[in-house]
Parts: sequence; structure tokens; C-alpha cells
Amino acid sequence: MPIAFKQGVSPADVLSLTVTMLIVLQAAKDWFLVINKPLVMTSLLRQDGVHALGRAVDIRSTDLTEAEVVAFESYMNDKFKAWRGQDKKMHKTCIYHDVGQGVHFHLQVQK
Ligand SMILES: [Zn+2]
Repeated sequence: MPIAFKQGVSPADVLSLTVTMLIVLQAAKDWFLVINKPLVMTSLLRQDGVHALGRAVDIRSTDLTEAEVVAFESYMNDKFKAWRGQDKKMHKTCIYHDVGQGVHFHLQVQK
């Protein structure tokens, strides 16, 4: 099952992701393959923060059950450990959050 893209999100933006982000995205894709649901990318490159640098992607979570949301977050954060950012704080690879436009997974990497 290929990665799907929310309307308005350009598949070409995947080409600008960092190598580490691509590895994380592949792991996410494999996890969705196992539960037989499509991985839908809702945001790739943006003007702000880690999204501007190809170090983050957003993935739709609303097609998942509550148990699957927990399982996905655990899987990603177990596989890819937290990392220390330039702000000296620790950052998780997978964050499940709502920053105003509904809950979703935010995947981010150090570089
Ligand atoms: Zn994000």
C-alpha cells in the first residue's frame, strides 16, 4: 500500500526530506502496512521550524483506533530514541498532538 497524500500536499516534497527522516518514514510506512491501513501524509515542507528543513512530517491519525494510536506512538519512539536538540532539550521522534488543526502524528528527527 503506497503512501497517500492529503489534497494540497505535494508528493515531490518527499524528495526534500533528510535521509534520517526517510528512514523514520519507511518504518512508519511498514507499521501501517502491517495494520493494512493507508499512511496519509497531511503536511511535509512548511515555512516554519523543523518542517522547513525536511526534518519533520505529519501523518493522519484519525483512521486509527485509540489502541492503534498508542501502539504506533510506542513503536516509533521505541525504535527511534529521543534526541537532544539545539535547544538542549530532549525531543521525541513521534508526537501525537493537536496544535490547532486536529490531532495527528508529528514525526521529527535531529538532522
Ligand atoms: Zn508537524
